[in-house]
Amino acid sequence: MEFDLIDLLRERTRVARDDVRLGIGDDGAVLVPPPGQELVVAVDTMVEGVHFLPGTDPADLGWKALAVNLSDLAAMGATPAWALLALTMPHADAALVRGFADGFVQLARQHQVALVGGDTTSGPLSITVTVHGFVPPGAALQRAGAQVGDLVLVTGWLGDAVAGLYALRDPPHDDSARAALRRVLIERLTRPTPRVAAGLALRSLASACVDISDGLLADLGHICEASGVAAELDAPLLPCSPALRELHGEAQALEFALGGGDNYELCFTVPPVHLEQVLADLGRVGCGVTWIGRIVAGRGVRVRDAQGEWITPLMKSWEHFA
Ligand code: ADP
Ligand code: MG
Repeated sequence: MEFDLIDLLRERTRVARDDVRLGIGDDGAVLVPPPGQELVVAVDTMVEGVHFLPGTDPADLGWKALAVNLSDLAAMGATPAWALLALTMPHADAALVRGFADGFVQLARQHQVALVGGDTTSGPLSITVTVHGFVPPGAALQRAGAQVGDLVLVTGWLGDAVAGLYALRDPPHDDSARAALRRVLIERLTRPTPRVAAGLALRSLASACVDISDGLLADLGHICEASGVAAELDAPLLPCSPALRELHGEAQALEFALGGGDNYELCFTVPPVHLEQVLADLGRVGCGVTWIGRIVAGRGVRVRDAQGEWITPLMKSWEHFA
């Protein structure tokens, strides 16, 4: 359908790759996987009113629809290559497609990701992106693999995105210092940075890895379940951004850090012997990293406060908009 819209997408998302023999325009794309590599594939859907607010800037949607998928590839330690886009919208909306393509390609260029096909249909606004990436045989990072004694680390800051969601409900409209901080948090929600380079660096070092889409407790919980272990975290170690602390205070920042989703940082485990290498390698790719706890025998994730008392977080995992 809607060939002009598809043309618009093709023109505005151009990223050259030698391994795309045939891209958008035929019944299927023809792609040339690198010899000897394994293919990692992931897909994520964003639905208006569920994953983003009505009226969201189409460029932000384009960026984020790709970002959340690249975050999955990052968590697998894969090098991104190709994407497919299934776009459903209420009517043939050229302005939306143009804006979407511009946000999408901004991130796609950073990672040399080619949009090679998709589907365009009418219906409630919904965006599904599929991504493909490569890893050497057997090298993909997984949720299973954490061992008792391993250290638990995270990249970047925790909890900003959920604070950004609160800020977005009452958008800042002045030039005050607080408004500037709120804009920082909103950008963390609308323009997440997938930790692709960090994922690649961790490939030979991490014993397990996950991206934080549902919240630290929930996603580290997935590592624990898949690995048959438990995790103990120290609340004072959790990395909260200056913007988050300043606007919400320590207690609320801690809740957001533990339970807030849409975060797209990596949470991973490493044997202590690899700690120095991890800090050096992630430092080299410009990615902040913080040690937050360790893997122990048992089940589940526990959190200790500064006094060593176990605490019960209020917000267990990500709440969607609806
Ligand atoms: P078909 O009916 O054979 O599936 P379409 O008319 O849906 O083909 O699509 C024509 C071409 O445009 C195909 O190459 C398809 O992959 C591409 N395409 C359609 N929609 C999109 C989209 N939203 N993003 C990227 N490529 C798209
Ligand atoms: Mg066809």
